[in-house]
Amino acid sequence: MGIRENLEQVRETVCRAAKQAGRNPDDVRLIAVSKTKPIEMVLEAAKWGMADFGENRPQELAEKFPQIENVRWHLIGQLQRNKVKYIIDKASLIHSLDTVSLAEEIEKRAAGIEKIQEVLVQVNMTGEETKSGISPENAIEFCNAVSKLSHLRVCGLMTISAASYSETENRKVFEGLRKLSEKIADEKIPGVSMEELSMGMTQDYEAAILEGATMVRVGTGIFGTRTVRL
Ligand SMILES: *Cc1c(COP(=O)(O)O)cnc(C)c1O
Repeated sequence: MGIRENLEQVRETVCRAAKQAGRNPDDVRLIAVSKTKPIEMVLEAAKWGMADFGENRPQELAEKFPQIENVRWHLIGQLQRNKVKYIIDKASLIHSLDTVSLAEEIEKRAAGIEKIQEVLVQVNMTGEETKSGISPENAIEFCNAVSKLSHLRVCGLMTISAASYSETENRKVFEGLRKLSEKIADEKIPGVSMEELSMGMTQDYEAAILEGATMVRVGTGIFGTRTVRL
């Protein structure tokens, strides 16, 4: 199937899941994850109305950025401190903030270009050791620390469920992230808002929407399978 048909199907599923949850489908932003895919496919998706694209490698985001206008770029993968400089003027939203030292580097680089960088805090809800993200127990303390940085704005949380999980297990993970964001919101930390929940990929975005996702990150479902593994 082509990108147009895939997009139609994904959008339909987003709508159906949102309605099933009693939510407005417009409150779920679809992010097309274009990692490893050529710019032609990004341009094609943009032609069919996509305005948000996700990349997990800073260099790839930086490379694609100048080749298309009027879209927003999301950095969704692990970000090393020494790569922040490549994307600071390009990323609308960084989904993968998970250390204070990374936050400090973003603060420094954002201040340098007089930008306030919007970020999401990545939380490891599955406890897998190979996965990045702060642990849920540290989330409030982490948000408090980051709130002191004036060129960073925390807008919510992000998580990745486990590939091996069943639908029920995915729902639990996503419910856990939503409850955590409510708990953080109750703290009323200055400069920290919990408006966004970035959760759900091709295999589990319906479950994520049912649990309150405001952003879903769909790659394979839109662009087809990747031959390069990332
Ligand atoms: C690759 C990736 C996605 C998209 O994965 P698909 O299974 O292709 O939809 C979403 N989020 C992150 C963080 C990713 O790295």
